[in-house]
Amino acid sequence: MPNIPLVNLKAQYEAIRDEIAESINQVLESQQFILGPQVEDLENKIAHYSHCQYGVGMSSGTDALLCALMALDIQPGDEVITSAYSFFSTAGVIARLGARPVFADILEDTLNIDPQQIEPLISEKTKAIIPVHFAGQAADLEAILRIAQNYHLYVVEDACQAIGADYKGKRVGSWGDIGCFSFFPTKNLGGYGDGGMATTNNPKLAERLRLLRNHGHQPKYYHQMVGGNFRLDTLQAAILLVKFRYLESWIEARIAHARTYSQLFRASGLAADDDHSGKVILPAEHQLGRHVYHLYVIQADRRDALKAFLRQNGIGTEIYYPVPLHLQECFKHLGYKVGDLPISEQAARRALALPIYPELNDQMLSEIVKTIGEFYRSA
Ligand SMILES: *Cc1c(COP(=O)(O)O)cnc(C)c1O
Repeated sequence: MPNIPLVNLKAQYEAIRDEIAESINQVLESQQFILGPQVEDLENKIAHYSHCQYGVGMSSGTDALLCALMALDIQPGDEVITSAYSFFSTAGVIARLGARPVFADILEDTLNIDPQQIEPLISEKTKAIIPVHFAGQAADLEAILRIAQNYHLYVVEDACQAIGADYKGKRVGSWGDIGCFSFFPTKNLGGYGDGGMATTNNPKLAERLRLLRNHGHQPKYYHQMVGGNFRLDTLQAAILLVKFRYLESWIEARIAHARTYSQLFRASGLAADDDHSGKVILPAEHQLGRHVYHLYVIQADRRDALKAFLRQNGIGTEIYYPVPLHLQECFKHLGYKVGDLPISEQAARRALALPIYPELNDQMLSEIVKTIGEFYRSA
């Protein structure tokens, strides 16, 4: 029986152990744990990589999103439009500022926010749009930016799953007013703990982000704004600087695995090319830029039974996400009901993420597709 977990961070660590130890050791020797030089070094590298002028290290992707909305002065009573199909923090940060999350449905193929659903949701109170680049593929940024410009709305990109993805030749995180990245351990560029970054091309916003992540004081103990402690640890920056050297090669490996999966699924007859007659629908690529495959999400018939079968056969999978945001308990007061955003609800029933970490090999991918085939044949 195979033993293929959804992610395997141990395999990656073994390949870079010595470099990591050396980088951590430098921080230990310097004893500069708070905003040490490694933080600025990483900020410059990630900003440049993401086609942005400024990067501001943050304590997490969630805090990058929160700080971004604070920098844009989102206030109680404001409305912010976002995708109903995302990790909780995308909407949580809106609610934490007393603003109202307004959920748009997604496209059936890419599972990204459907730009056509945005405009009807705009009101006098709307201040911003947060598109999410789901699974590592850019949302339709041009369409979203056009709407934002027409209605004078800010755009904050939730690029937490999509570092290195691009859209029409420009990286995600550089299109909106602010881009937000996560260095959660399992992300394509992950630390050994929490971390994140906000990017922008606007010097005033960069300054506000920098102030807000450090209690809003400049100089020290003279507070111009009410900020918080949203700082990225020097130790995490030191680790991420090592891993950043490998990011492109890891992304390439993920993309190669996605290609192999598609070939294997098509050859097995499990996925049909031009219609939806197969048992599984493969992740769609919109061809407007590079999909970095943080997640490889299929949409599967009888998903929960398939997930259980794969687990019994030693293969790890995960559901991103079992409950769309508009139906979360904590947002009950917003008044959404089942059926309001049908594509998000359908995705929540069908989506299943398969292992796609770089250290997988073709034999393991074959094993996974073969096991999925066994499930549908035995059923
Ligand atoms: C991971 C993630 C976040 C939050 O990142 P953290 O670093 O865990 O706070 C936000 N949005 C999306 C879409 C994510 O995948």
